[in-house]
Amino acid sequence: MTGTVTNWAGNITYAAKELHRPHSLDALAALVAGSARVRVLGSGHSFNEIAEPGPDGVLLSLAALPAEVDVDTAARTVRVGGGVRYAELARVVHEHGLALHNMASLPHISVAGSVATGTHGSGVTNGSLASAVREVELVTADGSTVRIARGEGRFDGAVTALGALGVVTALTLDLEPDFAVEQHVFTELPLEGLDFETVAATAYSVSLFTDWRAPGFRQVWLKRRTDQPLPEFPWAAPATEALHPVPGMPAVNCTQQLGVPGPWHERLPHFRAEFTPSSGAELQSEYLLPRRDAVEALYAIDSIRETVADVLQTCEVRTIAADEQWLSPAYGRDSVALHFTWVEDTAIVLPVVRRIEEALDAFDARPHWGKVFTVPPQVLRERYPRLGDFAALAAELDPAGKFRNAFVGDFINPLS
Ligand SMILES: Cc1cc2nc3c(=O)[nH]c(=O)nc-3n(C[C@H](O)[C@H](O)[C@H](O)COP(=O)(O)OP(=O)(O)OC[C@H]3O[C@@H](n4cnc5c(N)ncnc54)[C@H](O)[C@@H]3O)c2cc1C
Repeated sequence: MTGTVTNWAGNITYAAKELHRPHSLDALAALVAGSARVRVLGSGHSFNEIAEPGPDGVLLSLAALPAEVDVDTAARTVRVGGGVRYAELARVVHEHGLALHNMASLPHISVAGSVATGTHGSGVTNGSLASAVREVELVTADGSTVRIARGEGRFDGAVTALGALGVVTALTLDLEPDFAVEQHVFTELPLEGLDFETVAATAYSVSLFTDWRAPGFRQVWLKRRTDQPLPEFPWAAPATEALHPVPGMPAVNCTQQLGVPGPWHERLPHFRAEFTPSSGAELQSEYLLPRRDAVEALYAIDSIRETVADVLQTCEVRTIAADEQWLSPAYGRDSVALHFTWVEDTAIVLPVVRRIEEALDAFDARPHWGKVFTVPPQVLRERYPRLGDFAALAAELDPAGKFRNAFVGDFINPLS
């Protein structure tokens, strides 16, 4: 490895001595078979040590592999290579007159890395991005390729798998017919009297943003599919100009608002592919809990909002439909996600992260796997009822723990 490698945020410098970028699948398989410990680095947008193989391990990037995006229009599926990012995938899918069901706030992230951590967008009927996956192809510890398809018993452990089963070299995703979306932004939605279920269901995708400097929400983003009715939104005032969800940041970085219709992939993310997403100088945390508890959980944060506001850039509230992936933070429950974009100072952010976790403890909150959290492994284990099944799958595909690092090992502990 020449020089140091960090994650996107710069808060993690990987201790691995080597970063390999194989140019072929054969080279990748040989590298995996010949290494004692391996972790894949996707686009590096996680904020913790989930990708860290440790000082004696190999960090592997798939960025130099051919960027396969192979659309089957008749079957309405796409086969996408393990290093491809959503921006490239979405462009090709759209050119074929098809669409993904949802996207995260940014298109800069790799598909394989995103589904590995349970990355999601918003929408009460929208599952996480992993819910579109119908088949996963993995290079496992001995260098052989394993394909696991939806319908097989072990599939529900194989997609949101934290990189612990092998190197994902391709994914096949479900597509749907192309659709257009308009973004309508509103300002100053009160928390008092909030009918969260109704508000969250007013459009295909809904996000509430607040800085917690005052009660309630500074912005509401509705992403309406143009093939669905135009929602009434009587609870807040329409924005008169385009806005960025982080106060003080330029709206030009964001996808078009003010009700201008556009293709799904240019409206479902908040941030444009060609600009820095979010604030660019930040840490993030996020917690998923049952959607029915949304208002109570928001009041729990409101009760510590001055502490939170001190180190916060913005907080986003989204919804995610329940899914079946054993390690998905939305496993088995329709969820609300409370997201926090912090200032980029770990030392002052961590105590506030702990306060948030205390406030959300009663709701069995599951932290986003790719963000900053301090929930101890034994507590996490209680929140994932299918963890034993996942541990068995990891032991089957990776008996010597080649793909296990400290982050994942502490949690799944499959060899104990
Ligand atoms: C500005 C910003 C905005 C964000 N917005 C959202 C959002 O809207 N919604 C949301 O849910 N999250 C969001 N995130 C979090 C982000 O989606 C996740 O951290 C996601 O995992 C990033 O994908 P990545 O490719 O960068 O993964 P990495 O951070 O590189 O890796 C994540 C995990 O995936 C594994 N992995 C990656 N590629 C492979 C592979 N080919 N095979 C096996 N394992 C692999 C890694 O080993 C690691 O365990 C955001 C992050 C940032 C920085």
